[in-house]
Amino acid sequence: MSIRKLNHICLIGTKRYTWAINPKIKKSLDENNKFIKAYNTSSLSLITIAALTPPDIDISYIDEDFEEIDFDIQYDMVGISAMTQQVIRSYEIAKEFRKRGTYVVMGGIHASFLPNEALEWVDTVIMGEGEDLWPQFLEDFKNNKEKKIYKQPEGTFVDLTKSPTPRYDLLTRKDYFKNNKIFYNMIPIQVSRGCPHNCEFCLVTKCYGSKFRKKTIEQIIREIKKIKEYFPGKVILFADDNLFIDKKFSKKLLKTIKDLNIRWWAQTDISIGEDEELLSLIYESGGLLLLIGFESIDPENLKLININSWKYKQLSNYSKNIERIQKHGIIVFGSFIFGLDNDDKNVFKNVVGFMDENNITGQLTIATPLPGSRLLERLKREDRLLENEPFWDKCTFFDVLYKPKKMTVEELEDGFIGAYKQVFNEKVQAKRVQYLKEIYKKII
Ligand code: SF4
Repeated sequence: MSIRKLNHICLIGTKRYTWAINPKIKKSLDENNKFIKAYNTSSLSLITIAALTPPDIDISYIDEDFEEIDFDIQYDMVGISAMTQQVIRSYEIAKEFRKRGTYVVMGGIHASFLPNEALEWVDTVIMGEGEDLWPQFLEDFKNNKEKKIYKQPEGTFVDLTKSPTPRYDLLTRKDYFKNNKIFYNMIPIQVSRGCPHNCEFCLVTKCYGSKFRKKTIEQIIREIKKIKEYFPGKVILFADDNLFIDKKFSKKLLKTIKDLNIRWWAQTDISIGEDEELLSLIYESGGLLLLIGFESIDPENLKLININSWKYKQLSNYSKNIERIQKHGIIVFGSFIFGLDNDDKNVFKNVVGFMDENNITGQLTIATPLPGSRLLERLKREDRLLENEPFWDKCTFFDVLYKPKKMTVEELEDGFIGAYKQVFNEKVQAKRVQYLKEIYKKII
């Protein structure tokens, strides 16, 4: 059997910051741009599969947010990872490379849910987690036996304790520096996958399972040390969808990383506010900010989001838990979604008021029916989509894609723009900073 040449692979992270397609929303976001781009980090999946590639194969890593792709370089293979809002551009990239005879493989959440669509544009699709499948695919490719689709057996997930340390060295290239400032303002690490909550709009439970899987503490320490080696002083972003699901494990981890002298951000849920010991450990280990998915402050919306109403059950503790987190010197960055089924025109002033009363900043988005989500299936059954699929370039989280139940599309768009103006302006942000300064004075 002939062995195929595989000396050089190019891994491409497609442009992410598309903002809105709708011109009036885009204009508003552009005006508030400096408050919205809270973090700017790299693809973790690409540098993880890079670490699973045999060392005799050269890897180039391109982040299209920061550099141009040279389509005329003759790579032996191009690998692209894309979320739904990036996928149209990813298909264009694939088309350009395939025109020049380069083999293209695609992974990421969109292709995992719509592999047949992706196969119209690429040669092979890797569905789901790459750790087990990427080495199999490379081996098959070299032996001219590659398949169209690589898929983890139904109901099985990767053993994260076997996941390698991502190739952080690939992010240190000189062209990522401009005026001595690296483009990424934080470096990602992932400790766990899986979430039991299965929210209607989210793909995490479907993609990674409901069981919380995690790396070992030793693995995590190794990865943090590698980040520190390449990016001393840089803030670390725990890219886990919900870092503190297993509180016992979290405490053990935080006690260990306390001595590493790092600063970090993470995503979690509001129940973290119930555990004073955990909050102290977060602060002591360098935790600066927690991104918390409140989603809504309306009970009916929250009941709809989870089958088991888990989010709804947290609602009565929102304010109390926010205050507890802040009292420990940790910033609460709230995430809110507009356009849920019980939202009417009052939702905008209610959410802005809630953020103001609780002194939090955050991100505001519009409910987005991603392919693979229960939300998209329900909206199709209810005949509420504004246009037929595919509308992937509009899955920006800032565009309205379906008829809201209790307001018009225009009311949702205008209310959203108004809420942005009220939350993201100099005066309001200065007030939030002042509030945190007062807290720091008390605890330091
Ligand atoms: S939105 Fe958060 S809590 Fe809900 S399923 Fe996704 S990761 Fe889990």
